[in-house]
Amino acid sequence: MRLILLGPPGAGKGTQAKRLMDAHGIPQLSTGDMLRAAVKAETEIGLKAKDIMARGDLVPDAVVVGIVEERVEQPDCKSGFILDGFPRTVAQAEALETMLNAHGMGLDAVIQLEVDEGALAARVEQRVAESGGAVRDDDNVEALKKRLAVYREQTAPLVDHYRSTGDLVVIDGMKSIDEVEADINEALSVRT
Ligand code: ADP
Repeated sequence: MRLILLGPPGAGKGTQAKRLMDAHGIPQLSTGDMLRAAVKAETEIGLKAKDIMARGDLVPDAVVVGIVEERVEQPDCKSGFILDGFPRTVAQAEALETMLNAHGMGLDAVIQLEVDEGALAARVEQRVAESGGAVRDDDNVEALKKRLAVYREQTAPLVDHYRSTGDLVVIDGMKSIDEVEADINEALSVRT
């Protein structure tokens, strides 16, 4: 099963991706996690991405497309994967389509987690509080505002894109974590 999780920062993509991973035995591919690992390891990509990420901007399409392409070719992605945080632009979605077609693969669903914008800042603040201070360079009010603006401008158009391809599944992300998980699994059982 190949899935995309779509939604603004704080929508719960990472939380649900982990649950889907456990339930379906397929890996979670989080471009945010991969980029943070690159920053930590001070690789060439990491050095380029560090400041861009800290201010809440998007890392160039070619960079993320490259890391995703490398990742989906790994053996553990053979039976599927959950993309979390990718694609984030229409250009990335197009590159993904080309990539999947080249491997004779298709998408099973694009799960959009719909949340009230007002709840997002509170969720990110809670994440910071629970971890005893900001663990991510971009978990601050200014970067969050930027991430939301970038989401609205560059990523939200993907909702229409995937509605038109017939892949879109809209899930109410304001429910409890367990309820959201149950709704996703129900929607998937109907489709796959
Ligand atoms: P969020 O919690 O905001 O969804 P992520 O962990 O997915 O954050 O991503 C953190 C940062 O990593 C983004 O703000 C961006 O700078 C960079 N990033 C992650 N995925 C992508 C992507 N697909 N394209 C460009 N930049 C990305």
